[in-house]
Amino acid sequence: MRLLVVEDNEDVAGLLGQALAMAGFAFDRVGGGEDARVMLAAARYAAVVLDLGLPDGDGLEVLRWMRLRQDATPVLVLTARGGVNDRVAGLQAGADDYLVKPFAVEELVARLQALLRRPGALLGRRLQVGNLAFDTETREAFVDDQPQRLSARELEVLELLMRRSGRVVPKKHVEDQLFGVAGDIGSNAVEVYVHRLRKRLERKGATADIHTVRGVGYILAVVTP
Ligand code: CA
Repeated sequence: MRLLVVEDNEDVAGLLGQALAMAGFAFDRVGGGEDARVMLAAARYAAVVLDLGLPDGDGLEVLRWMRLRQDATPVLVLTARGGVNDRVAGLQAGADDYLVKPFAVEELVARLQALLRRPGALLGRRLQVGNLAFDTETREAFVDDQPQRLSARELEVLELLMRRSGRVVPKKHVEDQLFGVAGDIGSNAVEVYVHRLRKRLERKGATADIHTVRGVGYILAVVTP
């Protein structure tokens, strides 16, 4: 689950970053609207935390721009403006939720988790493919209801593939979600994680497996006998 945080205040961004990391979220952070657009055009995020008072404009412009280009990524707006009119303007521009500064980071994390549970972002808290299950809240994987020990990276890959089960997930998308657009990674890092995950699922008797679509990406689907 990779998030984009758009916040220019270093103190707020620092606190936010700590809380998100502790809650198990990976994220990219930018400090302005223009950078936000660049990132949003380059990668898909699970959700966006968007400050409204940005040095190069109003965060609402970024939000309107996203919705205009049919980008339905959930957006949680962060602002010092608490007035009813601002709140309405934010929701009208397409915000999914609204948090007024100062806020408790615990509340932000809880709101984000709620946003990610919504239909569209996710089909329920538990993803299931064959006898393979993934709990998006506790971030645990199960085969036949037996909890599986997977590394954080393996869990991320599994979640990505399970959210789009039966469809090809481009390798580039997996890379971006795991390492960020600017991430510095070996070209076969994703292959290594997928390989490990596949072996593990096989060993545990999962009835879902991961196929490689050469030159494109991966697809997780129920094993056909
Ligand atoms: Ca600001």
